[in-house]
Amino acid sequence: MRIEEDIKLDYKDVLIRPKRSTLGSRKEVDITREFKFRWSGKVFKGVPVIAANMDGVGTMDMARAFIKDGNGLTVALHKHYTLDDLLNFYDKKTSAAVWYSIGMTPADEKKLDSFMKKKPGLVEKLCLDVANGYSEGFVDFVGRVRKKYPKLTIMAGNVVTGEMVEQLILAGVDVVKVGIGPGSVCTTRKMTGIGYPQLSAVIECADAAHGLGGLICADGGCTVPGDVAKAFGAGADFVMLGGMLAGHDQAEEKVTQGPDGKKYLAFYGMSSDTAMKRHKGGVAEYRASEGKTVKIPYRGDVTATLQDLLGGLRSTCTYVGARKLKELSKRTTFIRVTQQLNTVFGQE
Ligand code: 5GP
Repeated sequence: MRIEEDIKLDYKDVLIRPKRSTLGSRKEVDITREFKFRWSGKVFKGVPVIAANMDGVGTMDMARAFIKDGNGLTVALHKHYTLDDLLNFYDKKTSAAVWYSIGMTPADEKKLDSFMKKKPGLVEKLCLDVANGYSEGFVDFVGRVRKKYPKLTIMAGNVVTGEMVEQLILAGVDVVKVGIGPGSVCTTRKMTGIGYPQLSAVIECADAAHGLGGLICADGGCTVPGDVAKAFGAGADFVMLGGMLAGHDQAEEKVTQGPDGKKYLAFYGMSSDTAMKRHKGGVAEYRASEGKTVKIPYRGDVTATLQDLLGGLRSTCTYVGARKLKELSKRTTFIRVTQQLNTVFGQE
């Protein structure tokens, strides 16, 4: 047994220090990024915010809304669309806006293989998503998918430490997904005691990835636009959002009325009982780290939420004098504002 005494921080443990700036208005800020992926060689240009591959968030309707809005965000489609749904959805336009997501199950891999045979060249970006990215089996899986599909941009995770980021990048991953336990409907920290404060995970993993020419996606734990700015300030290349994009028309779920007369939408972790019941055996790999179900107030169309989110991010850049999102992490100084004890259970 060993105790690590270094201080590890979550988003809410810090604020970003304002800096002198020549920027007059947030309109002058460019929040798009351009990346060339290490393995696929493909180029990404857009706002590097991704809707999480969860029911109610990673939906085809969300992707259509992003395309219509022309905001350059992308959606990681949840894993439970049928092959036919996917074949009908994918075309040249939609392809750029989505990440095709799979877990490690043979059924997922078979579905992807069938898709690739039926519509070759249409999938550009793949998200290999498991609750625990530390298993040797996952590294082998990533390596096999990379060998089979050398031209695909692959995002994979989740992990929270530099050595595993390096291993995944060397195995063929372009973007490593970072975050164990910070999610708004995730109970991993409570059920297993496992986790890593998300801001520190992002700082350490970004450093490891960038050293090898790879990228990271900070996944989970953002509850307000300022958290998204902190993730980018910490060095994240992409940020993935679940709860912040839940509760909208694009959820593809039924809006219900609460006893208070207000409208609600259910939002649940992909390993929650709700997801288990809905998808039966399809979420087995999440079993060890359960999720919960919450009711969130219905928020209408996602466009207004996006305006708030992207406006907040632009404002952060203005406060620290970053003309482009790319400059934000260089211009970021974090100030600690809480004691360590508060961070253990993340969002609770
Ligand atoms: P949020 O933005 O809501 O804080 O976090 C979203 C992330 O939570 C997802 O992208 C995914 O990594 C994680 N997540 C989603 N469902 C579950 C679950 O049931 N259990 C766990 N451990 N994590 C989940």
